[in-house]
Amino acid sequence: INRTNLCCDQPFATPISSSSSTPSSFSVIQSSLKQLNIEGYFSFKNFDHAAKDFGNRYHFLPSAVLYPKSVSDISSTIKHVFDMGVTTDLTVAARGHGHSLEGQAQAYQGVVINMESLRAPAMRFHTGNQELPFVDVSAGELWINILHESLKLGLTPKSWTDYLHLTVGGTLSNAGISGQAFKHGPQINNVYQLEVVTGKGEVITCSEEKNADLFYGVLGGLGQFGIITRARIALEPAPKKVKWIRVLYSDFSTFSYDQEHLISSENSFDYIEGFVIINRTGLLNNWRSTFNPKDPLLAKEFSSEGKVLYCLEVAKYFNPEETTKTDQNVDVLLSKLNYIQSTLFQSEVSYVDFLDRVHVSEMKLQEKGLWDIPHPWLNLLIPKSKIHDFAREVFGKILTDTSHGPILIYPVNKSKWRKGTSVVTPEEDVMYLIAFLSSAMPSSTGKDGVEYILNKNKKILNFCRKAHIGMKQYLPHYTTQEDWKGHFGPQWETFKRRKSTYDPLAILAPGQRIFRRAS
Ligand code: FAD
Repeated sequence: INRTNLCCDQPFATPISSSSSTPSSFSVIQSSLKQLNIEGYFSFKNFDHAAKDFGNRYHFLPSAVLYPKSVSDISSTIKHVFDMGVTTDLTVAARGHGHSLEGQAQAYQGVVINMESLRAPAMRFHTGNQELPFVDVSAGELWINILHESLKLGLTPKSWTDYLHLTVGGTLSNAGISGQAFKHGPQINNVYQLEVVTGKGEVITCSEEKNADLFYGVLGGLGQFGIITRARIALEPAPKKVKWIRVLYSDFSTFSYDQEHLISSENSFDYIEGFVIINRTGLLNNWRSTFNPKDPLLAKEFSSEGKVLYCLEVAKYFNPEETTKTDQNVDVLLSKLNYIQSTLFQSEVSYVDFLDRVHVSEMKLQEKGLWDIPHPWLNLLIPKSKIHDFAREVFGKILTDTSHGPILIYPVNKSKWRKGTSVVTPEEDVMYLIAFLSSAMPSSTGKDGVEYILNKNKKILNFCRKAHIGMKQYLPHYTTQEDWKGHFGPQWETFKRRKSTYDPLAILAPGQRIFRRAS
């Protein structure tokens, strides 16, 4: 059966709060799942959480949630659904930490698999080969837990996301990009092997050498070809401390020139990101609690009011005994940059505190009830050759302030990225990740409401299309087959072929809205 080229244009196109379902279909599905012999369990009620995600805009209620104890629980469930064939339209979604933005980890009237409950076999470190240590983890493991366990052995994964309370399976299904990607590539570069349960229920181990087509397909594969159950992650010796530095620019060309220079130098920082600040007052005062100005008197005179500013954020890892050498190294690196001299701010923190920095903001927002609100985010990859056109139009013209949330901007080298994965990127060696990380007030119809922000996002996307920017969405979200085809471009045929090979009934990850379940 190859009906997976049918894409969903209709049923998922708008955010819906779905609580209606035919009771008879519910009970048939539930009684058939109850018959499965599994170590974990199914829950058929109280699963509102499985219809929620960080985006907080899409809510699709499933029929059941599986809390697996073993890989075989997952494969039995999928095999069962696969064996039901086209007699049902039951789908299955792996849910990592549910930090998707548009319902990608949800399954309307389907089965959601709560990947965090898959804890066996336990995390296992392999340090025999000191050159290439690695750890085998469950794909439902949170990156923060892997960090803490690795540090006990003086080791660490190499490439991160800005926020660590995400699962391995969730980030590997996208790419996992952060300030280390210019050096190590994204997280999908730093895995040696995966265990995957396909849409037919088969359990397959894959790597660059073994079942390579599945391995490459699953990396950045938006959950379409299988559920990742285990991953082998590359490690390196962990530093103890981090010099964390921020400097400001008022000119975009100077800012991007310096960022590009830094990502292409051999001896550079260990982390390179940046963000845009539009029309914010009191900016430098806000930084003072964590970042100290190098020259407090000069910094005091600097006014950010009414300006578009670009903040370069860099970090250098070190161990306490290397402090002097690291300071010298950082001074040399900074001396080659053309930032506004009075705006050099620095801080020294532990490696854990640096990597887990967004969690601190999360706690503060949680306290104020501002974490679980709608997040109409937009993440784009822009080719280097068009970044100036993009910046000119978007920063200052389309967007007049950054009060909705941070706008990250930093370049990465594609030469560091593993080739042949499912991730779609612009066709140039250097591209910028630009993340519009907006938060919206739940019931507002004003400038801080969802509609207003979505409208701004749409304007940015329209501009990219009209100006032929060659942009690709990261964490992509589309609702029609034409749009998905456009997103994948020449990779569409491979993506479709892999879907019909590994998930021919299109059972998996229906929330991505790429393929329609064969029924
Ligand atoms: P979920 O939302 O649960 O799932 C995401 C998708 O992957 C779904 O389609 C799901 O079905 C599928 N999936 C989940 N687990 C598996 C599995 N084991 N096997 C196969 N498919 C699976 N991303 C970056 O790259 N860099 C960042 O710096 C970054 N920062 C972020 C900060 C915050 C605060 C948030 C909320 C998100 C951030 N993201 C970032 C995006 C994040 O990486 C993705 O949204 C990721 O998918 C979330 O992981 P999760 O475990 O919550 O996945």
